[in-house]
Amino acid sequence: MTRVAPKGGGMSDRWVVVGAGTMGLGIAYVAAGAGHDVDLVEVDQTRGQVAAVRLGELWDRAVGRGRLTAEQADANRSRVTMRATLDEVSAGPDVVVEAVPERADLKRRVLREAETLGPVLLASNTSSISIAELAEGLNRPEAFLGLHFFNPVWAMALLEVVVGPATTSQSVDAAVALAGRLGKDPVVVRDMPGFATSRLGVTLGLEAIRMVADEVAEPADIDKAMVLGYRHPIGPLELTDLVGLDVRLDIARTLEAAYGQRFAPPPLLVEMVAAGHLGKKSGQGFYRWQNGVKA
Ligand code: NAD
Repeated sequence: MTRVAPKGGGMSDRWVVVGAGTMGLGIAYVAAGAGHDVDLVEVDQTRGQVAAVRLGELWDRAVGRGRLTAEQADANRSRVTMRATLDEVSAGPDVVVEAVPERADLKRRVLREAETLGPVLLASNTSSISIAELAEGLNRPEAFLGLHFFNPVWAMALLEVVVGPATTSQSVDAAVALAGRLGKDPVVVRDMPGFATSRLGVTLGLEAIRMVADEVAEPADIDKAMVLGYRHPIGPLELTDLVGLDVRLDIARTLEAAYGQRFAPPPLLVEMVAAGHLGKKSGQGFYRWQNGVKA
């Protein structure tokens, strides 16, 4: 395999990203932009095609905005290879990150399979599930940790590095170094469900949804109150639309199991997910979205 020297010198790593949804494609985009070769694995053929198109649009946009030359965009594009299964990926990658839906059983299955490739670092992009729980059944839990990226991955500086009970300090150091190469600013946190970010962020989001149900104000006004009154860059309901209501529901259920009733998902959230109102990705959430833009 040809390794590409990234900007700033040094050899690039070979990455495998599992799941090409909102997060997986963002992680693949950023990793390729840092000079790494990426296998992006997506089981759902349609979603895989959508992800490939979306990645192309992101690079075209970067060129259009003068952030990349056409040559740089082409080089990044050529570093990402779409795969339908992990069987198609060659062994010995440096980093594997899973970004499949927030369900512990699914993630454990994917992680066990990915571990057989023998990566130096094995990571989960989970927003809320404990690393200890996901490490069950792994042969090398010392190489496993959480790499919690934020959405959109290319715009958000934070990388939450979640240290499991078996994670070695070498793995943590490797994760912090990797964050630097991606241009991310890491925080290292202890393994507790919801970590530092989701536990606080989801609290706000769930309460905002209860306020919509209580008809305290229109969603736009609840968001405006937090933006203008508390200087949040974006309101909790719009953020829920960006994250995906289904994703937030899964996280709430994980946190409810860990911390009890205070994270119980509001009935309105459950109803909206059942109706297919998933936020930006479905075109309807607390706002209407057209071509990825809030209507
Ligand atoms: P998503 O539903 O957009 O994407 C998940 C993708 O994984 C789907 O395309 C699905 O087809 C694919 N998939 C499922 N099983 C697979 C398998 N076995 N192999 C390969 N692909 C498979 O979800 P998302 O929003 O990208 O979230 C992914 C993870 O990232 C979750 O753990 C979530 O909690 C976390 N996360 C999400 C956000 C966010 O804002 N959406 C932010 C931070 C972390």
